[in-house]
Amino acid sequence: MTSTSLTPTRADAVIIDYNGVLGRQPTSAMWTRLADLAEWPSGQVASFQDAFWAPREAYDSGGLSDLAYWAKVLGHHPGAWWLRTLRTADTAMWIRTDDRVLDILRRARATGLPMVLLSNAPAYLSNVLDATGWRRELMADALYSARLGLCKPHPAAYEHALTATGITDPGRVLFIDDREDNCQAAAELGLRTLHYTGQPADLAEQLLSVGPASVRPTAAPRGTSR
Ligand SMILES: [Mg+2]
Repeated sequence: MTSTSLTPTRADAVIIDYNGVLGRQPTSAMWTRLADLAEWPSGQVASFQDAFWAPREAYDSGGLSDLAYWAKVLGHHPGAWWLRTLRTADTAMWIRTDDRVLDILRRARATGLPMVLLSNAPAYLSNVLDATGWRRELMADALYSARLGLCKPHPAAYEHALTATGITDPGRVLFIDDREDNCQAAAELGLRTLHYTGQPADLAEQLLSVGPASVRPTAAPRGTSR
């Protein structure tokens, strides 16, 4: 057996999740700081996280304003200054990227592989992510739940993203996400899937190991016979 014979044909486009793949998870210190800013009882970060996540899907899907979301988390309406403080700290938890993943995506993009971001994110964070250099450099398009009005794993989220790739056959598109339920929903629509578990080598294998059919237009120097 040779490595060439084992190499699967690479997908023609990628739909990729943000947090947990490109974006790094918040640190414990970040959660503690946000809980402190929310004036949560000291040492009760776990219960703060429960309150944080309970209304998050509604927030991510655009159904709650910043004020309405934080009112649900806190149990009362924060003032304008407090709301901005909370939103800024919340946003800061989700904007750190993994350089190893970005490097692989840059190399994949350089081969001409189209990539579309599909992220569950509230409106403010969506705008921040959309303004980053990596978003504009790497992504042909970026779809955010707050703008779509629905979250993964709703099937329509994947259908919008597939349309954005410009490819009609889902079997030619690879969906990457760190959540298994999101991958399962994508697979049910016929997309190829990679359940990302934090190993950049898995991404490299899928995105950089081009098969014979797709390597010629991008990798062979012009004027050579190779
Ligand atoms: Mg994720």
